[in-house]
Amino acid sequence: MAQEANPFESLQEQIDDAAAYLDVRDDVIERLKNPERVLETNLSVEMDDGSIELFRAYRSQFNGDRGPYKGGIRYHPGVTRDEVKALSGWMVYKCAVVDIPYGGGKGGIVIDPKEYSEGELERVSRSFAKELRPFIGVDRDIPAPDVNTGQREMNWIKDTYETLENTTAPGVITGKALPNGGSEGRVEATGRSTMLTAREAFKYLDRDIEGATVAVQGYGNAGWIAAKLIEDLGANVVAVSDSSGGIYNPEGLDTRAVKDFKNETGSVSGYEDTESLTNEELLTLDVDLLVPAALENAIDGDLARDVRADIIVEAANGPLTPRADDVLTERGVHVFPDILANAGGVTVSYFEWVQNRQRFYWTEERVNDELERVIVDAFDTLVDAYESHGAPNFRTAAYVVAIQRVVNAYTSSGNWP
Ligand code: NAD
Repeated sequence: MAQEANPFESLQEQIDDAAAYLDVRDDVIERLKNPERVLETNLSVEMDDGSIELFRAYRSQFNGDRGPYKGGIRYHPGVTRDEVKALSGWMVYKCAVVDIPYGGGKGGIVIDPKEYSEGELERVSRSFAKELRPFIGVDRDIPAPDVNTGQREMNWIKDTYETLENTTAPGVITGKALPNGGSEGRVEATGRSTMLTAREAFKYLDRDIEGATVAVQGYGNAGWIAAKLIEDLGANVVAVSDSSGGIYNPEGLDTRAVKDFKNETGSVSGYEDTESLTNEELLTLDVDLLVPAALENAIDGDLARDVRADIIVEAANGPLTPRADDVLTERGVHVFPDILANAGGVTVSYFEWVQNRQRFYWTEERVNDELERVIVDAFDTLVDAYESHGAPNFRTAAYVVAIQRVVNAYTSSGNWP
């Protein structure tokens, strides 16, 4: 994976690019480029053999002008303070672009979860929840899943918080399992917004998604669901990958069968009737649609010159470096940005929080209908901004919409000395 860019610097550059199209004071923009606060802590956790291991952990609360901080918690050995800051900033603009009443936050623990038992992971999660307790809350900061975390970790964190607070507060965290106050449709939400963005993008560009060829990098929650739902639109998913590498069949893959194979064997590699590919080869395949759904910085400026897809819909956060963005804009490749395309996760997290607060739960059909309305409205607003501001690409247009909304909330609150 390319390591050209520090993700926090990428975020700041994206904000500067969009600010050039807005009439906003420099001090306000500067404020929007930096987190309000970052918690950095060490978790001392007992391992199964009785030893104690220390894990570095972070929570960045980037901006709360439009509502409580909101964003996932990532477990990954590559987590850094700057990565968490960047991810928390992207959450601010993601919530703003789809117009849900949240600010942005993000958390992470430096850990490779594959190396630990379930009991150890539970103790790590509960230890982090204890450190987070003074910072989070239903109206303050609401974590969610991200890379290598899911319903299990959310349930542990909720349970720890509720035990320490001596209350019931399902809305303190989202992405929970259904019996713990989760929402129908949450697991599929990120991939669903990626599919909806791809569908609207093809429509806008006057292209047919039926029969279009598609490559998907990353076959986790975001990538596999996006692949499945895009296949359901009649597209031909010809290549997918995970950290073990990629597989390719020009005739198309059965995305559900590939997922079953990955569940059985731990990776997509070796699936029947496929050629193996490196991730770099997958990213430069000659396809109509490329969906990066792994981690940041998957495509840098050099690789962008070799990308042959016509359309990119970003399921991952920050998969293109700013240099890659410049190259792809210059080459006329249409990039539909992460802050719209993967916003389904946080949008259905918002629906989950609303349901938790009302103690009234929706059907999956209602969740999916409401999500579709939010994503299609946001897509239309983005396209209007793209056409009316003369922005060079859809990412800058998305930031123009999002920054203006945050600025409106900030400036209309008046000045507090
Ligand atoms: P996940 O852990 O479920 O899946 C990540 C996938 O990426 C795995 O298949 C992994 O093998 C693969 N991967 C890791 N390194 C790779 C590499 N170098 N090359 C190819 N594949 C690689 O995580 P996820 O929840 O699907 O998240 C993926 C991306 O989507 C992240 O950027 C995350 O921030 C973003 N995202 C997720 C959600 C959500 O609700 N899950 C919401 C918004 C954004």
